Amino acid sequence: MKRRILRWIALSLLTLILVAVAFFVVQTNRRPSLEGYAQMPPAPPAAAIQVRFAGVATLLFDDGETAWMTDGFFSRPSLARTAFMRIAPDRAAIDAGLKSLGVDRLAAVVPVHSHYDHAMDSPLVAMQTDALLVGSESTLNVGRGLGMPEGRMRRVLPGDRISLGRWTLTFLASRHAPLPISREGVVETIDAPLVPPAHSLSWREGQTWAILVEHPDATPMLVLGSAGFVPGALEGRRAGTVFLGVGTAGKQTPEYLSQWWDENVKRVGAKRVIPIHWDDFGEPLDTPLVAFPYLIDDLSVTMKHLTAWAARDGVEIKLPPLLTPFAP
Ligand SMILES: [Zn+2]
Repeated sequence: MKRRILRWIALSLLTLILVAVAFFVVQTNRRPSLEGYAQMPPAPPAAAIQVRFAGVATLLFDDGETAWMTDGFFSRPSLARTAFMRIAPDRAAIDAGLKSLGVDRLAAVVPVHSHYDHAMDSPLVAMQTDALLVGSESTLNVGRGLGMPEGRMRRVLPGDRISLGRWTLTFLASRHAPLPISREGVVETIDAPLVPPAHSLSWREGQTWAILVEHPDATPMLVLGSAGFVPGALEGRRAGTVFLGVGTAGKQTPEYLSQWWDENVKRVGAKRVIPIHWDDFGEPLDTPLVAFPYLIDDLSVTMKHLTAWAARDGVEIKLPPLLTPFAP
């Protein structure tokens, strides 16, 4: 009798585990389609300014004289690896990423904040392209962990401006999208050199930036790497194009999203929004990008709201093509 009960319990447990594993496997592969969304057309050959998108929030800005990049994240370790193992920059993926963008020299690499999917590769990209690494103290600690010399790093504080050739970058305080792992109002920082391999959560947020990008030959642009905002922080700033980080926006409330749109798009008078940070960065760059699985985000929800507000406010919404240059 007792043995029969024990056997029944063991079988039930096993079934439960199998169902949980099957659920996880199915759910990590169910994701919204990317079809049906308008895309930025390729840049005309005469375009003074060209931008290339390389997944997540990696954007290459080039005016033909000076090129610089946000993030430079190419390693893209699988989500399973990220959850259960320690991760490190993948030098082969970085080489391949830079090669596919056709750059070997950059003025600066500028992570939008210090989470691993933005800042993990930045110091190696900067060292490989003779670039400055620019960011918060947390970002500089990612640089120190990879042996980046102090003289090649520039710390910036909210309100700071830097010039790169004819480009001017203004660093404004923004906020990260709310995450299950984050505590309301608490910004975690990297307070010592971060030496990889390390657990993905070791790359703590640091300062999340809204980067205002100005150039005499282009409309001002705003780069937001995460779906957050600081109420009123962009008051008085103007930008024609907003690169809008939308990661996990599909899991936020409509009220949050409405305020997010007003603070980041309406307030600066933008006429074009280019959503970024919607691709599943557990997948490599050499295959077509796919959206995050529903388990993490729902891009279709985000796009439904954005499309409605864009139509109301006279704003154009277009996804960036992968690696192909476009005129922002
Ligand atoms: Zn982040």
